[in-house]
Amino acid sequence: MKVDMHVHTINSSCSLNPIRLLKKLCSKMGILPMICDHNKLTKTDFGIPGEEISTDRGEFIGLFLNETVKDRDIFEAMDKVKEQGGLIYLPHPFDEKRVRSLCRYNILNDKDFKKRVDIVEVFNSRCEDNRPNELAYEYAKINNMLMGVGSDSHFPWELGNAYLIVEEFDRDNPKEFLKVLKKNNKNGFKYYGKLGSPVNMLCSKLSKRINKSGSLRIPKLKFNKDMIRYL
Ligand SMILES: [Zn+2]
Ligand SMILES: [Zn+2]
Repeated sequence: MKVDMHVHTINSSCSLNPIRLLKKLCSKMGILPMICDHNKLTKTDFGIPGEEISTDRGEFIGLFLNETVKDRDIFEAMDKVKEQGGLIYLPHPFDEKRVRSLCRYNILNDKDFKKRVDIVEVFNSRCEDNRPNELAYEYAKINNMLMGVGSDSHFPWELGNAYLIVEEFDRDNPKEFLKVLKKNNKNGFKYYGKLGSPVNMLCSKLSKRINKSGSLRIPKLKFNKDMIRYL
């Protein structure tokens, strides 16, 4: 089966993935999505619930969650995920272009951090080029961590950009998922992944504006004295 470990819905302000459409697309493409909205737990009847949690030291994803994690201290947030029996997944950890990527917070080599990590995202379709993915792959290998992939889809057309191919597993059981993921990693790490267009990042910015105001308003240009001087 195909598993996309990183999908957003309209519950993230930077996404316009309506939940009903997402459900239709996932079933059409045979993809099981892990739903990871920013700082929100979106429960659906078709995906595995997760959350992309922003902390004081960058963002990580908690998977198989029952409750939203609100802590902003990274270690406290990680522990809250573990207390629920959830898994810790590192999204785009080496993508310096994104402000909340872990590589910007000098934490990836912290011992206490590393021992809490379950899975590293070694392919994320929203990276501008493949370098951050290569670095994530090396990091996972060096640290003997499990590897996963995600489309990080914020829009319907991004779905299908990345997924793992794993054996069927019990969707309520994170340990079962770890088992099939281990098998996948050992047997040649089967996944599909392609980079999307950088335009998707711009669309996210636009989407934030739409979600905030309820409609798309292009800001009016205001002229002031200084601007006129330069005209
Ligand atoms: Zn986002
Ligand atoms: Zn994301």
